[in-house]
Amino acid sequence: MTPIGLYIHVPFCVKKCGYCDFYSVVGDDNLMDAYTAAVCEKIGHYKDKITADTLYFGGGTPSVLGGKRVAMIINAARDMLTADAEITVEANPADNLDDFFIRCCDAGVNRLSLGLQSANDNELELLTRRHNRNDVITAIKLARKSGINNISLDLMLGTEAQTKESLIRSVDFCADMGASHVSAYMLKIEEGTPFATRKFATPLADDDAIAELYLLAVDRLAEKGYAQYEISNFAKSGAYSRHNLKYWNCDEYIGIGPSAHSFFKGKRFYYDRDINGFICGMNAVSDCDGGDFEEYVMLRLRLCDGLRRDLVISRFKNGNELYDKVLSRTGKLALAGLLTANNEKIALTPKGFLVSNSVICELV
Ligand code: SF4
Repeated sequence: MTPIGLYIHVPFCVKKCGYCDFYSVVGDDNLMDAYTAAVCEKIGHYKDKITADTLYFGGGTPSVLGGKRVAMIINAARDMLTADAEITVEANPADNLDDFFIRCCDAGVNRLSLGLQSANDNELELLTRRHNRNDVITAIKLARKSGINNISLDLMLGTEAQTKESLIRSVDFCADMGASHVSAYMLKIEEGTPFATRKFATPLADDDAIAELYLLAVDRLAEKGYAQYEISNFAKSGAYSRHNLKYWNCDEYIGIGPSAHSFFKGKRFYYDRDINGFICGMNAVSDCDGGDFEEYVMLRLRLCDGLRRDLVISRFKNGNELYDKVLSRTGKLALAGLLTANNEKIALTPKGFLVSNSVICELV
């Protein structure tokens, strides 16, 4: 059995951040216990059907669920995990993390993804985050004390308060704290979020400023030893997110939890954004076939490794022909500096990543 990825969506947050459209609710102990039991039961359905070499707790806020429940879920999946499985939990630096990290580490968690967003308290306030810079320092110390040393930090680019200097402070903070991985996302105002309503003044910089900040982040992260490997992801000495690479490589994964998506045996399916339905036994609904060439191109072009002829040939029957078709459309885009292309590989440049949707549209 080829190992796949296992994703657990933890749909609980203490409060909603203004920019966030991930599915989450405020949960009490009863709801979180019922959710944990439902997740364990659904994991049981895959017993003897899959092995997984990555397990990722995302959300929502896994640290709100608590270490005891996270450990119960890991134990339910234990038999399907490979010995070298990457087990990641996301955490909010504002939470009480001492007990959480100890229990997670004991259960096998070996990677932490922490929502730093910014090392500048004024930007954190604008983003309506619950934590400040000092909370992040405390959280990282606690994680290390419990034995979790592989730490990824999230950064948010593009609040109107962000300047070149403040962005450099945030990137340097990641390096100074010894993060092995940084995810740097550009702020977007998603429909239905508090920032999209009139309740909040939208704290978004203009497009040109965001583009400039993104390119600055790419450069500064490189100077600090973080190699870019995806539009928004950067790693030191090969500390890539093995789990997230499965998405961009169009590999298989099973997602469990309300709103979690899966790609398995050629099908994409998902759970509705409904915690009660999930607990009551609602099954994931089949969406559509997945993994065709167009989808593969869209996903692989998010990676710096790009679209590779050898991989296309090994995945698709008429791979040479398919690759050549995309290659024939690259001329103008390469001249504009948005990608590099040759007989072996087509890859977007950082400038191309900024307009990745339209570049990919032209190619497929
Ligand atoms: S950004 Fe994270 S902590 Fe904030 S609402 Fe979204 S999932 Fe919850």
